[in-house]
Amino acid sequence: MARRTKKVKSTGRFGVRYGARLRKDVRRIEEVSKALHRCPRCRLQAVKRQSVGIWKCRKCDYLFTGGAWEPITNVGKRVNRTARQIEERKHEI
Ligand SMILES: [Zn+2]
Repeated sequence: MARRTKKVKSTGRFGVRYGARLRKDVRRIEEVSKALHRCPRCRLQAVKRQSVGIWKCRKCDYLFTGGAWEPITNVGKRVNRTARQIEERKHEI
């Protein structure tokens, strides 16, 4: 199949409007947010974005919160790690 767009992909709908920088950002975000991601529970590539920060696995119906545009962000990973450490320290005392 012939490629419809050379490099603008999903932002082709904007034409030449809004500037190259913004269109590029939107394109990156849409590529990540609209893709299927790996489920943290069943490990299948079936997680889809429901809404801002809400992700759902199509296979096992696992519903969880995450980043606005990607299911797991670097900041989210750190928050989870810190929360776990605090929880572990609670048991030591
Ligand atoms: Zn799943």
